[in-house]
Amino acid sequence: MRILLSNDDGILAPGLAALYRAVVDLGEVVVVAPSHPQSAAGHAITLRSPLTVQQVGLGAGREAFTALSVDGRPADCVRLAVRKLLPAPVDLVLAGINAGANVGINIFYSGTVAAAAEAAMLRLPAVAFSADVGAQEVDFDRAAGLCRWVLDRLLACGLHPGQLVNVNIPVLGPDRPRGVRVVPQSTAGVEDSYHRQEHPQGLESYRLGDSFSFAPAEGLTDVACLEEGYVTITPLKVDLTDPPRLDKLAEAQKTWPALPGQ
Ligand code: MN
Repeated sequence: MRILLSNDDGILAPGLAALYRAVVDLGEVVVVAPSHPQSAAGHAITLRSPLTVQQVGLGAGREAFTALSVDGRPADCVRLAVRKLLPAPVDLVLAGINAGANVGINIFYSGTVAAAAEAAMLRLPAVAFSADVGAQEVDFDRAAGLCRWVLDRLLACGLHPGQLVNVNIPVLGPDRPRGVRVVPQSTAGVEDSYHRQEHPQGLESYRLGDSFSFAPAEGLTDVACLEEGYVTITPLKVDLTDPPRLDKLAEAQKTWPALPGQ
């Protein structure tokens, strides 16, 4: 199995190396990741500047491996790798392990999920892995072991071309994780704030604060279950269409007059 591994925290991120070590025995693992941190890059791609690719040595000793760094966005890395850099077809794309949860509407801002979503758009199976951050630093080795456990289960269930899965590891502790939950994405809003900044030229300037929280959500969702200490698994779709409203609008459209000028 040929696996493409990418992330949004950048080529030097500990979560990338930990995920590499956790899956390297599955086959040939090729790492193509952004040269610099790209958190919250979302699904951006680079249009008007070239993408520079450099080979980078990572890890040490028996765990040393080479990777390709790309001075672009996470989605750039996956498209460029699949379309140009890799000599043979990719069987599976993994993104992560992100330092920070990617649940609820934060999925839209996530470069980690975008890297995996890009793979799904390229008709490849893809999984995004993220680890929630608590008071302590993330234990990426332990998180990676959990990611591998989930990946083995997903592969056993069948992970097909174009299928995208979002996996989040909770803040770990002696009694965490408490288990695994397959749950839908929460759509609860994020509560955060912008702070007025001094600007050297006296212009109006704001910075987004570091802390945020989710608005209260009802039911079993990725946000609620991750907070409670469960590993969460959410299958996602690139198709954002809302089928009930599609049907309703399509029905309404039958009664609309002709377009102006027709
Ligand atoms: Mn990140």
